[in-house]
Amino acid sequence: RVTATDSHGENIFPSLPPLHHGHSEVHLRNGIMNASRLAADHEPDAEKAFFVADLSQVYRQHQRWISALPEIQPFYAVKCNPDPYVIRLLASMGAGFDCASNNEISQVLDVGGIEPSSIIFANPCKAVSFIRNAAKMGVNKMTFDNSDELYKIARAHPRAQVVIRILTDDSKSLCAFGIKFGAPLVTVPGLLAKAKELNLDVIGVSFHVGSGCYDPTVYDDAIKRARAVFDMGKEAGYSFSLLDVGGGFEDGLFENAACVLKEAINRYFPERAREGIKIIAEPGRFYVSKAFKLAANIIARRAPLTGSEPAAPDTCAAAQAAATAADSESEEEKPAVMYYINDGVYGAFNCILFDHQVKHPYVLSMNGSFHVSSSEPQHMCSVWGPTCDSIDCVSPKTVLPVNLKVGDWLGFDNMGAYTVCAASQFNGFEVSKVIYTTGGAGGFEVRNTLAAFAAAGHGL
Ligand code: PLP
Repeated sequence: RVTATDSHGENIFPSLPPLHHGHSEVHLRNGIMNASRLAADHEPDAEKAFFVADLSQVYRQHQRWISALPEIQPFYAVKCNPDPYVIRLLASMGAGFDCASNNEISQVLDVGGIEPSSIIFANPCKAVSFIRNAAKMGVNKMTFDNSDELYKIARAHPRAQVVIRILTDDSKSLCAFGIKFGAPLVTVPGLLAKAKELNLDVIGVSFHVGSGCYDPTVYDDAIKRARAVFDMGKEAGYSFSLLDVGGGFEDGLFENAACVLKEAINRYFPERAREGIKIIAEPGRFYVSKAFKLAANIIARRAPLTGSEPAAPDTCAAAQAAATAADSESEEEKPAVMYYINDGVYGAFNCILFDHQVKHPYVLSMNGSFHVSSSEPQHMCSVWGPTCDSIDCVSPKTVLPVNLKVGDWLGFDNMGAYTVCAASQFNGFEVSKVIYTTGGAGGFEVRNTLAAFAAAGHGL
């Protein structure tokens, strides 16, 4: 059992069932697991980079969701971060799950206590064996956006409840999906006729405005298109009962997006017309981005880079761009020190390459102390990952103290979305482990965790 109490000793999570299949239990008390447990998990090399997951943040995001979108049930997009503790917490709070593969379905079902009906297999292009497996697992809801998929589903899972994924405007998102997925509206009547002919049960419509959506007004047009497809469904002899508004929810714009969505739903699906229609969404990054931080150790440094020293090998794309502008760049703008840390773009920071994220570190500890004086000389520096590849650049330009040493720690925020899930072991580097917390007083849970290491004999 997870015991999770806040600093007042209150139990903050609902009672959670035990995890199945060999995930060790964690005990969370006043912010962090106890120090000896942390140390045991991390021996022998205490300088390894690690994530700190604040599960109370996931809990708070869910409270935000419920208060802004009470009518829409979130089906958490597992691909974003398939952490078993996150999945279990979300399940206990009533969320469903969007799975993209067989393994994700198994992962969710293995957590225990989650019904297959709480899963949507939201990948419009699936291997036949995956569709067959979904049928075996009792997962019926699945998306499609082309007629070949309909033939496959009719063969491998004839009792599936299929959902048509339509194309919407994704031009206002960091990661657009329309180039790969989504049926243009002109193709929908033909697809629905084919589904009817194959005796398939089409139950509704889904869309995705793209991940990292920075203009929530696009939800309005997406709902308008979904309305048109509901009407096309009627024409084809279906009575749809599911509207899936996808993902794309950005933390800072969430309430704004919720407003746009609610207004659009009220306009295009007025209250009486939406009786009998279940509305779901597939949020990913909204739930986990802020909940995970990463602590990485400085394992090497190169300085100075000014004066007669040769310039840094700026082969990272961003660094190269910086180098092109370097001639006109003032000395203050040029990276003075190169810091090398023990996680990089082949690991947790793959989000820089795949998810267009930009990362800037802050100093967690310096010379074994958490006290970082504001009078430390700061300069433009660059931060690199541990592999032998020069694309492994975490931050080509970021302001840091120039006298950080090997062994000092850097912290990175917003590391929960599309990070650990796509990390590789390229060059033999391990994927950073996750330490679970319920949040610490003042939000210093990463420093608290480092302090716990130190207290257990693993010096900073
Ligand atoms: N649903 C589907 C089908 C997706 O492909 C994704 C992201 O790739 C998501 C939901 C989650 O999107 P986000 O993290 O932007 O909420």
